[in-house]
Amino acid sequence: HMRNSRIKRTKTVCTYCGVGCSFDIWTKDRDILKVEPQMEAPTNQISTCVKGKFGWEFVNSPDRLTKPLLRKGDKFYEVSWDEALDFVAKRLTDIRQQYGDDAVALISSSKCTNEENYLVQKLARAVLHTNNVDNCSRYCQSPATEGLRRTMGYGGDTGSLHDLAIADLLIIVGANPAESHPVFSTRMRRAKKKYGQKHIVIDLREHDLAHRADLFVRPHPGTDLVLLSAVTRYIIDQGWHDADFVRDHVDGFEDFVRSLEPYTLEYAERVTGVPRDTVIQIAQMIHEAKSTCICWAMGVTQHKGGSETSTAICNLLLVTGNVGRPGTGAYPLRGHNNVQGAGDMGCSPVYMPGYERVDDPAVRAKYETAWGVELPTSKGLDNHEMVDAIHEGKLRALIIQGEEMALVDSNSHYVREAFAKLDLLVVIDVFFSKTAEYADVVLAASPSLEKEGTFTNTERRIQRLYQVFEPLGDSRPDWIILRDLANRLGANWTYGHPSEILEEMASSAALMQGVRWDRLEGYRSLQWPVHPDGTDTPLLYTNGFPFPNGKARLVPAKWIEPTAFEPEYDLHLNNGRMLEHFHEGNLTYRVHGLKEKVPTTYLEVSPELAKERGIETGALVRIISPYGELKLPVVVTDRVKGKQMYLPMNTSNDEEAINILTSSESDETTHTPAYKELQVRMEVLRPH
Ligand code: SF4
Repeated sequence: HMRNSRIKRTKTVCTYCGVGCSFDIWTKDRDILKVEPQMEAPTNQISTCVKGKFGWEFVNSPDRLTKPLLRKGDKFYEVSWDEALDFVAKRLTDIRQQYGDDAVALISSSKCTNEENYLVQKLARAVLHTNNVDNCSRYCQSPATEGLRRTMGYGGDTGSLHDLAIADLLIIVGANPAESHPVFSTRMRRAKKKYGQKHIVIDLREHDLAHRADLFVRPHPGTDLVLLSAVTRYIIDQGWHDADFVRDHVDGFEDFVRSLEPYTLEYAERVTGVPRDTVIQIAQMIHEAKSTCICWAMGVTQHKGGSETSTAICNLLLVTGNVGRPGTGAYPLRGHNNVQGAGDMGCSPVYMPGYERVDDPAVRAKYETAWGVELPTSKGLDNHEMVDAIHEGKLRALIIQGEEMALVDSNSHYVREAFAKLDLLVVIDVFFSKTAEYADVVLAASPSLEKEGTFTNTERRIQRLYQVFEPLGDSRPDWIILRDLANRLGANWTYGHPSEILEEMASSAALMQGVRWDRLEGYRSLQWPVHPDGTDTPLLYTNGFPFPNGKARLVPAKWIEPTAFEPEYDLHLNNGRMLEHFHEGNLTYRVHGLKEKVPTTYLEVSPELAKERGIETGALVRIISPYGELKLPVVVTDRVKGKQMYLPMNTSNDEEAINILTSSESDETTHTPAYKELQVRMEVLRPH
């Protein structure tokens, strides 16, 4: 009996991707016995993927930070929380006195809860008096959010995973769900097999869903906008658009049609390399389908024209009337588990919680009343601008919550040089990351299993996680760290539980009015917007669009050519996720089973290129870009073609990290790095 009483079952939400699977975790003391999915889980029912099922051992890793660390010279020493937080508060105060409020910036984490993200932006705005606050969607999905907001109004998926499962036609552009959103990809495969759902995949690489697709299209890198615009033009030329929907619900049709003039079939074939018959075939499949969904991810967004291509996707859906009905819509697939929530909570230089603009005096007045402070009026910096501002000496202090910026931001050398110039770098993390090496103070945080709160998945679905373990050692949940730091800076935050933070957020953010802690009990969830009576919104735009006249907007999308490289950089290097690991690997490389399965990253090389260079699987090559070089083992595979190569981004090893190679180029509108625009050259170190 004694033994059994230590066995516990706790509901949690997976922290590995935006699908937002939820399940019960069985534990005994600090041991994880098993992960048990439940039928009532809204997105996954009884499914999980390998990360959700086996990826939790990192919480007990001996590498965990269990006490705050303070740098003295070149070394870090364990200190008490009082000493660490007093130090941070004093340094922040000194820096603000010397250089002004905007010399400080904060970056929140999409692995942290909504409540913790809310506190990061509140700390920035209400306590430190700056709008310099951002989150890691700047690295991935900000262009998708931008495309959606311009055209449809809300920066979120227009429907639910359920709509993707019942659509007639799914178009997947620049996304690899089988590895990045595995449970969702299982549902799509089932829809194909059971209901004959059609799949079009547009990608450089023949990943699992591409291999199984009804139509797999491989345009030249960075040319999706031209392809999609040609498809849209062809549809309108044929009179296949939804004229009634456009007349009643959409503005700007005539200007939009004019903007499509250059995108003839001939032009598209020349720029994208996709034969004109294939362009026609895509248009025909959309025309024949009763309902179409388009999913996209970083293969679209991480380009200089990422926002523009995202806009082109939304335009195509609007002219064909594929919005606001079951089985239709626009679905940027959110990568991290709470990347949607981090944006929703206002960790952004331009948006308050619920995407209300900080430069709107009425919005500011609302929060000034709610928070009892005066709010900053100057424009904030985004992540990308923060790095430049550090180099220029304008930004002197940075607080980074759980973000491995030294590895995941593009052009790593440039980012690390910036860190070295800071007067104060505070890192809040579960592990001593690469970024922490540059810190003055490292604050030991607790991962999701050690706290309560909510996460919001890719479908705008808010779900609660329950506490499985006590925080390890002296580590603390981020919301407690942020509260205690704010109070040392003169605030009077009395939060005793995350529920108080959630309900404070809901009392001001228009989109979240009906969000309540008890409405999220157990496996219950809410998809925003949530009305005061608790009614939520699984499918957006069933009654028009959130613009003053209730109509959506067609916005002509601008074609921005990918970055040009010198001819010596003759190979294209693409990058993305792999199934077994999460991001830079700080978590999953600490899970034995996963590490054993895939111990290291590898470079995918096409059979043609391997033959030309005389290399085989197992070869070792040096890959060189204008910004850095890496040594990588080779896997020869026909997933990639010709002079296009692929490197999974999942490694914490500098010798293999993709961003040593990437440039500082970025999306024109949102500054999301153009990670996918990368040309390199190869030197063979060992041929097999
Ligand atoms: Fe976790 Fe995503 Fe896998 Fe679900 S699909 S178990 S949310 S990593």
